[in-house]
Amino acid sequence: MTDNIDATVLIVGAGPAGSTAAYFLARAGVDVLLVDQATFPRDKSCGDSICPGAVEILDKMGLSDWVSLKGYAKNIGYRLSSPNGSVANIPFPSQFSPYPNYLIPRREFDHTLVQHAVAAGARLREGVRLTGFERISADTVCVTGVEGKTPVSLTAKLVIAADGSISAFTSRRGMVPGPTDGLALRQYYGNVAGEPGQFELHWDKSVLPAYGFIFHMNDGIAVFGTGMFRKDQQRLKANIQERLTTFMTQNVYARKALENARPISPVAGHPYRDDAELVKPYADNLMLVGDAAGTGHPMTGEGVGPAMISAEIAARFAIQALQNGDVSEIGLVGYGLAFHKQFDSLHKISQLARNVLTFPWMVDRTIQRCAKDPIFGAAMAGILAGVVSPGEMLKPGMALRLLAG
Ligand SMILES: Cc1cc2nc3c(=O)[nH]c(=O)nc-3n(C[C@H](O)[C@H](O)[C@H](O)COP(=O)(O)OP(=O)(O)OC[C@H]3O[C@@H](n4cnc5c(N)ncnc54)[C@H](O)[C@@H]3O)c2cc1C
Repeated sequence: MTDNIDATVLIVGAGPAGSTAAYFLARAGVDVLLVDQATFPRDKSCGDSICPGAVEILDKMGLSDWVSLKGYAKNIGYRLSSPNGSVANIPFPSQFSPYPNYLIPRREFDHTLVQHAVAAGARLREGVRLTGFERISADTVCVTGVEGKTPVSLTAKLVIAADGSISAFTSRRGMVPGPTDGLALRQYYGNVAGEPGQFELHWDKSVLPAYGFIFHMNDGIAVFGTGMFRKDQQRLKANIQERLTTFMTQNVYARKALENARPISPVAGHPYRDDAELVKPYADNLMLVGDAAGTGHPMTGEGVGPAMISAEIAARFAIQALQNGDVSEIGLVGYGLAFHKQFDSLHKISQLARNVLTFPWMVDRTIQRCAKDPIFGAAMAGILAGVVSPGEMLKPGMALRLLAG
C-alpha cells in the first residue's frame, strides 16, 4: 500500500538538526512532518558533548530548565596530553560564553528534542526510510521510501534533508563535494575512575594524527572514542577500531580510568563530514541541514551545536520562502548566503589549525604552553569548547605565546 501524506514541510531525519528545524517551524505555525527511519528513543554514536553553541539553541527552544534540572555532568575542564607526555589541565573557560558544555547521552538528548518538536505542533512518523525525491511542480515534491517493506510516498512543498552524514538527498544532486570526510568511533564504559565533567583529550601515539577522548559523565560512566580522516586512513592503511583498542589498553590515562571498568555498550561508529564551505545547501524545494550539509566543526568534531544552528537558520529562511510563495532554488538563495556566512570562515581556519596540529612536535609545544601559560591554555580550551575560533591561535599575539618560554 502506498501512503499519500501531504505536509507543507517534510523533514527527513529527526536528529538534532531535524528536530530543531521542526520545532522552529512548528512554533511559527508551519505544518511540519518529521520522519525518521528509527523509532525513538534511539542511540547515535557520539561523544555526547553538547557544547555551549547547542545549549544556546536549547535556551531559545525553552529547554534550559529541562537540561539544568536533569543534572547532567557539566564540563569542568580539560586534561590534554601530548605525544611526548606533556600534560595540561585547563579549567572550563566560562569567560567566553554564558552557556555551559554538558554531557548528555544522545539517546536521551535526541528523544527530548523530538518530543519537544512534537509538543510544538510537528507531526512525527517513525520507522520510515525516505530516499527518493522527485519535483512534481513548482510547489510539490514527492519523497519516496519504505516503511519496513511497504513503499511510502509523501508529498510536500519543501523538504529539509536532516538525514545525517550519508544523506540520500545530496550527492546525486551534486550538493556535496564528495564522500564523507572521516569516521569516528565510541564506546561507553561503567565504573570508570574520574570526575564527572572531566574532558580528556590524549594525542597518544596509537591514534595520531587524531586524539583519543575520554569524557566522564555522571555515575562513573565515561565515553571513550577516537576519529580519523579518510585521507589519513588511506595513507596509514589504519584500522580505526584497532587504534581505539590500542589507545584504551596502552594510553596511561585510559588504562588508569579503565582499571576497574567494564564495557556497557558495543563500539559504535559513524562517518562524518565537515566540508560545509564546499556544500550547496539548497536546491529547488530542498534544504540541507546538519551533518547532511557538512556543518561539523573540522577541528573538534563537534557536530550537534552546528547542526542545530544550521537548522535554526534553515527554519527562518523556509518560513520566509513559504511566505513569499517561492520555494525554488531562487527563493531559497538567502539560506545559502546565511549558511556560508555562518560556517565558511570558521571551517577554513579550523582546517588550517587542524593541519598544523597533525605535527606531533606542534602538539607537544601547544600542550606545554597550555600548561605554562593560563591565557594560552584558556584560548585552547575555548577552541575545544567551540566558543573561540581556532583563528585566535594563529594571531601574532598567540603565536608569540606559543614560541615563548
Ligand atoms: C564517534 C562520534 C563522536 C562524536 N562526538 C560528538 C560530540 O561529542 N559532540 C558533538 O557535538 N558532536 C559529536 N559527533 C558528531 C555528531 O554526532 C553529529 O554531528 C550530529 O549527530 C549531527 O546531527 P544531525 O541531526 O545532522 O544528524 P544525525 O544525528 O546523524 O541524525 C540523522 C537522523 O536521520 C535519520 N535518517 C538517516 N537517513 C534517513 C533516511 N533515509 N530516512 C529517514 N531517516 C533517516 C537517522 O535515523 C537519524 O535519526 C560525533 C560523531 C561521532 C561519529
